[in-house]
Amino acid sequence: MQTPVKILLDRKREGKELADSEIGELIAAYTKGEVPDYQMAAFAMAVCCRGMTDRETLALTSSMRDSGECLDWSDVPRPTADKHSTGGVGDKLSLIIQPLAASCGVAVPSLTGRGLGLTGGTADKLESIPGYNASLSLVDFKRVVADCGCSMTVQTAEIAPADKKLYALRDVTGTVPSIPLIVASILSKKLAEGAETLLFDVKCGKGAFMQTPEQARQLAAALVSGAKGAGRKAAALVTSMDEPLGFAVGNALEVKEAIDVLKGEGRLPADVVELSVAFAARMVSLAKGFDLETSCARCRENLANGKAYAVFAEMVRLQGGDLARFEAENRDGGSGTSLELKVERAGYIASIDAQQVARVAFRLGAGRAKTDDAIDPAAGVRLAVTHGDRVSPGQPVARLFADARAAELEEAAAELAAAFSFTVEPPPPRRLILA
Ligand code: URA
Repeated sequence: MQTPVKILLDRKREGKELADSEIGELIAAYTKGEVPDYQMAAFAMAVCCRGMTDRETLALTSSMRDSGECLDWSDVPRPTADKHSTGGVGDKLSLIIQPLAASCGVAVPSLTGRGLGLTGGTADKLESIPGYNASLSLVDFKRVVADCGCSMTVQTAEIAPADKKLYALRDVTGTVPSIPLIVASILSKKLAEGAETLLFDVKCGKGAFMQTPEQARQLAAALVSGAKGAGRKAAALVTSMDEPLGFAVGNALEVKEAIDVLKGEGRLPADVVELSVAFAARMVSLAKGFDLETSCARCRENLANGKAYAVFAEMVRLQGGDLARFEAENRDGGSGTSLELKVERAGYIASIDAQQVARVAFRLGAGRAKTDDAIDPAAGVRLAVTHGDRVSPGQPVARLFADARAAELEEAAAELAAAFSFTVEPPPPRRLILA
């Protein structure tokens, strides 16, 4: 490195702006193992405390993107787009949005993640389909996108390796909550994935990474400006995550709910449908240059006529999944041992605490605390009611699923009961899109 790391650290600690070349050299050297973790941890902490200018954030993002392979989709004869979510409870939107956008003529290469902590990852959800391969090579990933317009698979080691290393370090050094570091982390992966249009779902509330609308708005604005700065079309919505999305929280349960939405079957979760259309329509509108109203109409049409489901089913088939077996095993909404939770009072459901529901699903085995923990694909919670529903004593409000003893299910059900709050009068409707 031309400038010793110690000098860079001194300058960053004092709040000075680093040059693009300095940031580039630091990331390249760190990726090669030439900068020790203790210096990189000090750098991350200095950024947390001092922030970064937009120029520095862009330089950090580009150098992290360039630490690995960048995919090229110029041989796919469709505009490319993807959606990223900061993650929420019951957030199965990608399972619907990606095939829905693909059914409208957009190619959707979607590198996704596994869950850690309370919220699940899209890859874990898809792997609850018997045989589904969420660990495709990049060659197979490209082939599935070319064949059916959409693929969802785990990000490989070739994509933004600097982020993988730096994120693991941030996780144990208290340096995750920094907007420039979060932006560089998320964007470096999405830029390397290569889609021309990027949509961001920045979740905000009790069950989200960003707890206040102000923080969420700042992150959303920074992601959009970073993506545009890197030459992509981009937009973001800040969406509410105080209550779980839809009825299902847990891997197989969420896939079943996503399939119901794609097929238009059963009691459809209005929040999931509204947000799926909002995101897919924006992807189509930006990627294809249609106005938003036309894109919304096309998305609603392709949910109703089964075209979005057909893309999903074809993607699952191409990635080795047995959808017929999954659907047979989850015909009644879920599988395995289960217990119903009933309410003891009358009233309206005023709120369902997302974090509390996530804690229960996690306890039942739906999530992992460490990256190598096993998860139970069938575990989780399926709500029977939603915000604003009227309930009477003895009415079931949820069913818990787990490979657990009856006593453990009873304890988890008592914990879940605390997630519900009630009012005598109907509560005001939920606002899903905050900004
Ligand atoms: N998700 C990421 O991928 N990176 C972060 O820094 C935070 C959330």
